[in-house]
Amino acid sequence: MTQISEVTHSKEPRPPINWPGALVLLITPLAALILLPLYLWSHDISMAAWIVFVIFVMWTGLGITAGYHRLWAHRTYQATWIVQFMLMIGGTLGVQNSILFWASGHRTHHQHVDDVDHDPYSAKRGFWYSHMGWMLRNYPSGESNYKNAPDLLNDPLVMFQHNYYIPLVLLTNIAMPALIGWAVGDIWGVLLMAGLVRLVMSHHFTFFINSLAHMFGTQPYTDENTARDNPWLAFLTWGEGYHNYHHIFQYDYRNGVKWWQFDPTKWLILGLSQVGLTYNLKRIPTLTILHAEVAMKFKRAEANISTAVSSYGHDMQHDMELIRHRFKQEYEAFSTTLNEWKLLKEQAFLLKKAEVSQKIQDADLRLKVDFHLIEQRLQAHGERLEIALRGIQFVKKVG
Ligand SMILES: [Zn+2]
Ligand SMILES: [Zn+2]
Repeated sequence: MTQISEVTHSKEPRPPINWPGALVLLITPLAALILLPLYLWSHDISMAAWIVFVIFVMWTGLGITAGYHRLWAHRTYQATWIVQFMLMIGGTLGVQNSILFWASGHRTHHQHVDDVDHDPYSAKRGFWYSHMGWMLRNYPSGESNYKNAPDLLNDPLVMFQHNYYIPLVLLTNIAMPALIGWAVGDIWGVLLMAGLVRLVMSHHFTFFINSLAHMFGTQPYTDENTARDNPWLAFLTWGEGYHNYHHIFQYDYRNGVKWWQFDPTKWLILGLSQVGLTYNLKRIPTLTILHAEVAMKFKRAEANISTAVSSYGHDMQHDMELIRHRFKQEYEAFSTTLNEWKLLKEQAFLLKKAEVSQKIQDADLRLKVDFHLIEQRLQAHGERLEIALRGIQFVKKVG
């Protein structure tokens, strides 16, 4: 769980208030809380307002996830100009500062994750700070010189949005819904729902990734940072809830990496690639992912066995020693698999380097089969470990 480390910061004077950020983040929810009930008192939300609301919710959400996050902050794929433009407009609708500021800060978050002095929204500084406190004052950890974003500084679309950010925010968030509202005959309904209510919702759902997704959920791939996989948050954030995976493999265009994990952003990016609108989608190889998962299971099993052995009485010792022995054997087998995998990767590398030869296709096929066998073996290690872990739980219960 997160520890609040404000203690070390409490002696320093509080940084000055970030007025533009604070006003937007405090006034918009207050306005929504007052205006929505007042409006509902005397009006129904028209069907047109609902439809524009849903479209704007999707547009904003995907502008942030597929655009700000996976395209610009992490460069997990490339997109044609029209896709970039649509994502830029969606992201601007989100009112989360410019692509340049957001992506640069986010790269710092990944580089210094959890560091209370350098991660702009370190979850170690508590829920409130990581959710939105960090935007209310000009904290030194949130300052950016864009040194980590030379690619974005050279991107004309990104710089256009950065230079005209305020007019673009007003155009997208006020003029656009007002115009659409006028066209469908419900200016105030569309402004309220697709403008204000949508903005407040999309703000807090995104902020949950910095706060809740670093507090609640599982850690199947790594426990070296606070990021968690949380399917509930994935539902609210177009797939961004698989944050533990994302923090270990940030260059993958998928966050929910298993085919069944709810990640509409990855489906959108993949779908667009089928019609040539996105390309160069980056994926971490399945074996690498599986390795991280199995290694994490070993780590967990080892910790479990150590605590169980030290805290159980004499009669349990025998059972625990047996489990420990089996675990050791499994670990040795796992290391062998890893070594063979390493050799195989070297072979594959040499094969790729070698000039075209007749036998290359045969060799390539053989390698594919061998890689597949390694994958199956890794999978089996994972499954046997699950069983061993259940064994430990059983011994603990009986004890
Ligand atoms: Zn994070
Ligand atoms: Zn990220």
